[in-house]
Amino acid sequence: MNKLCQHIAPAINIAISSGNKIYYIELPNEENGKLLIDLYDPLTSEVKKQIDEKCQDLRFWEWEGVPHNPAEKGYTCDKCNIVLIFPSRKTPQMP
Ligand SMILES: [Zn+2]
Repeated sequence: MNKLCQHIAPAINIAISSGNKIYYIELPNEENGKLLIDLYDPLTSEVKKQIDEKCQDLRFWEWEGVPHNPAEKGYTCDKCNIVLIFPSRKTPQMP
């Protein structure tokens, strides 16, 4: 299993200390050689500000989404191929 890299770990800590949670971790596969970390809640402007300040190795991205595939935003560590993904809306809790 890939370790969380030192670049993205502080960003995850910032998100979690704001009350967010890790929803799902998708291990790299042949099609997509990236470790994907999905969070439950959207990116707030306060969390974005902190991550932008403290995690300057990460690349911020935004995706508008398409029908059946909602918008997302997040941060990528291009050195380590790890992607942190925030949904555009709160992830519904499983019943
Ligand atoms: Zn990294």
